[in-house]
Amino acid sequence: MRKREETKKVKVGKISIGHSKNVVIQSMCNTKTYDVKKTISQIISLEKAGCEVVRVSVPDEKSAFAIEAIKKEIHIPLVADIHFDYRLAIMAAERGIDKIRINPGNIGDKENIKKVVDICKKKKVPIRVGVNSGSLSKKILEKYNGKVTSKGLVESAKENISLLEKYNFYDTIVSIKSSNVLTAIDAYKLFAKKFDYPLHIGITEAGTVKSGNIKSSVGLGILLYEGLGDTMRVSLTGDPVEEIYSAKKILESLDLRSGGIEIVSCPTCARTNINIIDIADKIEKTLNEEKFEILIKKSKRKKYKVAVMGCAVNGPGEAKEADIGIAGGIKEAVLFKKGKIVKKVDEKNITKVLLKEIEKDLM
Ligand code: SF4
Repeated sequence: MRKREETKKVKVGKISIGHSKNVVIQSMCNTKTYDVKKTISQIISLEKAGCEVVRVSVPDEKSAFAIEAIKKEIHIPLVADIHFDYRLAIMAAERGIDKIRINPGNIGDKENIKKVVDICKKKKVPIRVGVNSGSLSKKILEKYNGKVTSKGLVESAKENISLLEKYNFYDTIVSIKSSNVLTAIDAYKLFAKKFDYPLHIGITEAGTVKSGNIKSSVGLGILLYEGLGDTMRVSLTGDPVEEIYSAKKILESLDLRSGGIEIVSCPTCARTNINIIDIADKIEKTLNEEKFEILIKKSKRKKYKVAVMGCAVNGPGEAKEADIGIAGGIKEAVLFKKGKIVKKVDEKNITKVLLKEIEKDLM
């Protein structure tokens, strides 16, 4: 198993990616970048949810011009996503962008690649080479009978990296994404055997919040467990804030990130006599709010576990490792701490009382 500390360190604005146990969480805005107000507002929501690096598309000059104004109002590094037009990459670097995602192989003329490299060196802007199923060259596709293969993806990454290395540029982060989980896993593993560039991992076009979360959890979970991935994005067709919740949950599940509030809840069964599904949903939604993020950070607890269980027969016992929890009865629930029953609560007050007790515990 590779150690995450074995990759190169690349600075992205005020943070570092690679050569560390830490996996940086990122997301991407789905606003029009030139709509500065909406883009800033979305980035602030992402920051509050725990996003550490954010990317915006820069498909035109008005989006590149917006970078300066956006940068002034946000607190995390900003990445410009550029396709083909090297001039937009230069404009972004001149306007204070913290990282550029561009494939040098798509820029065309070698002189233009050099121009991008020169400004990135001068402004200390790293580049992410982002290879995916759709970015493979005709030559590579033909070599593999028109199919997207992990070998072809790695070959494409190699080609793009060498175009940068030719100009002595090594501040590179690499992603090799595929919408096929197994192809992506295979490609990242192959790449990691040969290179020590930090890896941005993701399953591209993973799908809606529901199915995308499952595909991403499987793919990213396996990669992270194998020591691969220095920064990650869970790509979902939905509100990007959801991507942050998912990324945090994936990292917490693998013990790669501490300090979160974990909710365990029972699947309900014939013994359930209160609306556990509704209570668990409400508790999870509220505990994801910024207020609780701040409380848990201040409390310096590594983890705080909340259990929402359907019955008093099995509830406290099953969730005895939880810091706090409820176990349903008939029109009431018992509140327990560390598996020991503390008091009874009326059904209508369960959510309110549980949240209040959690807040008290974390103060
Ligand atoms: S905790 Fe009780 S209600 Fe929930 S699944 Fe287990 S036995 Fe059923």
